[in-house]
Amino acid sequence: MASSRMVPPKDNGEHSTTKSDPEIPITVAISSDIFRGPVINFAKALKEVNEALTEKYPKSRELFEVLLISDNSPKSLRSTISENDLDDLITVSEEDLTALLQRKKIHLFLSAERPKAEEALKMGTAAAVICPKKMEALPETQAETPLRIAFDGDAVLFSNESELVFKGGLNAFLRHEEEKAEEPMNKGPFKEFLEVLQKLQRKLDTKAIRTYLVTSRGAGCAGYRALKTLRSWGLETDEAVFLSGTKKGPTLKRIRPHIFFDDQESHIRAAFEAGTLAGHVPY
Ligand SMILES: [Mg+2]
Repeated sequence: MASSRMVPPKDNGEHSTTKSDPEIPITVAISSDIFRGPVINFAKALKEVNEALTEKYPKSRELFEVLLISDNSPKSLRSTISENDLDDLITVSEEDLTALLQRKKIHLFLSAERPKAEEALKMGTAAAVICPKKMEALPETQAETPLRIAFDGDAVLFSNESELVFKGGLNAFLRHEEEKAEEPMNKGPFKEFLEVLQKLQRKLDTKAIRTYLVTSRGAGCAGYRALKTLRSWGLETDEAVFLSGTKKGPTLKRIRPHIFFDDQESHIRAAFEAGTLAGHVPY
């Protein structure tokens, strides 16, 4: 089945979240055991965005802050950081994750350990598990711009309400989506992260950041509802790809995102096979 791309509906500005939000750092916390190769490239791409932001808004604190979470060998970690010219990273010792999440606003948490990602998700933080083994098999690539982040829809940007209906079969799902086409879905764990990315995009007014929706939904009512939901939040992605249940690998190969987030293991596997760093969202 052919995939189809749709141009997301234009945001009319009515729901804009950008005006009065406080300008705070956008914190990405990464556990040190996955801080290598493609994850370092992702961190470098974030840093590139910081340069563009600082140039345009020299006084603003609204920059990506990459927080490394480490429980040992701070020395070797320091050298990894300096070798990669990432000396503005902050290392903190491993501590009770709950306390860290309570103390500090974390916008994205990447861990090698599923229970930690689950704990963060429970506390309302966008979180994903990255398997270090799978990462080893990825081809060596250079960090490059622009920053590209791809998201699955259901159970990532959106809640899992429709995915639960899908368990009752494709027809039940399609009927459900047709009936509820005009009704936005509830937010999922990564909605807020997309929101901050879009806020930065608007501030920069350049192509320094690209966002993608890569969903198994088709372009009919199911896809319409996805776009309708984003629009109801005042959000959109630069591209939305509706795959009607076909494999996500070829799309990811074309987009080459720095990272892709999905809640289903099969899509995570397909992403890695396509050479894409993928974070599993255990939602
Ligand atoms: Mg999903």
